[in-house]
Amino acid sequence: MPEGPSVRKFHHLISPFVGQQVVKVGGSIKKLNSATFQSLWLQDTQVHGKELFLRFDPDEETGSLGNNPLPEPLEKKEEAGDQKQTFGVRANEFSRAKKPNKRGDWKDPIPRLVLHFGGGGFLAFYNCQMSWRSSPVLRPTSDILSEKFHRGRALEALGQEQPVCYTLLDQRYFSGLGNIIKNEALYRAGIHPLSLGSLLSPPQLEILVDQVVGFSAHWLQGKMQGTQQHTEIYQKEQCPAGHQVMKEAFGPPGGFQRLTWWCPQCQPRLPPDEPEQVQLS
Ligand SMILES: [Zn+2]
Repeated sequence: MPEGPSVRKFHHLISPFVGQQVVKVGGSIKKLNSATFQSLWLQDTQVHGKELFLRFDPDEETGSLGNNPLPEPLEKKEEAGDQKQTFGVRANEFSRAKKPNKRGDWKDPIPRLVLHFGGGGFLAFYNCQMSWRSSPVLRPTSDILSEKFHRGRALEALGQEQPVCYTLLDQRYFSGLGNIIKNEALYRAGIHPLSLGSLLSPPQLEILVDQVVGFSAHWLQGKMQGTQQHTEIYQKEQCPAGHQVMKEAFGPPGGFQRLTWWCPQCQPRLPPDEPEQVQLS
């Protein structure tokens, strides 16, 4: 499900509609009464981590914040497994079926919400969790794709005595970081996902943060240019060095367990208490 770079791409698609009025509404969503969007003006859009906010206002005039702004966050809920379904936002186009369903029908995905704007264009929202919220408090210092990302705070969090793969997915410190970025950054930094942060050296932690930021920025750049991001370990059977890759679900006790891929040879575990079984085939 979408990570920071995808949500930034959606934000980029929505931005040209800021300042326009909603003239027609459609879509399958029942939770939000879609009629409430009718005639509202889209006044702002902001992105934070994996969340996207759209601010609507009943008046064309913006400026006074006393106008009861209605931000709409489109939170993309992460789901276990790696489902290939349409999600996110399309501008001026609908998502088309990429293959027939089990019955052999070519059914296009149904958008949750479609907003037609006065300028003639439209936005279609697919498979995202939407709700009305009061003005959000955004902390760009935790957003891995923000220039205000606070490196020191991230390093301090990573240095805790817990597996680094848990800390990386903690949105309080690494907002926008999802499972793909987690796996790729750990592999590229040569760090085992279950290594305790407290046992890693400061330079190792620095390299890990560099890889998180670098991989995410590169992924975003590719999204804007329409190129596919290359992964080295995520969903792979062999690492680029030709070693057999391990796969297991890891997560905090009682928390969300996420599938994790790692190379036992390129990413030695700290502490090395449980010897890994290396399968040679
Ligand atoms: Zn390897």
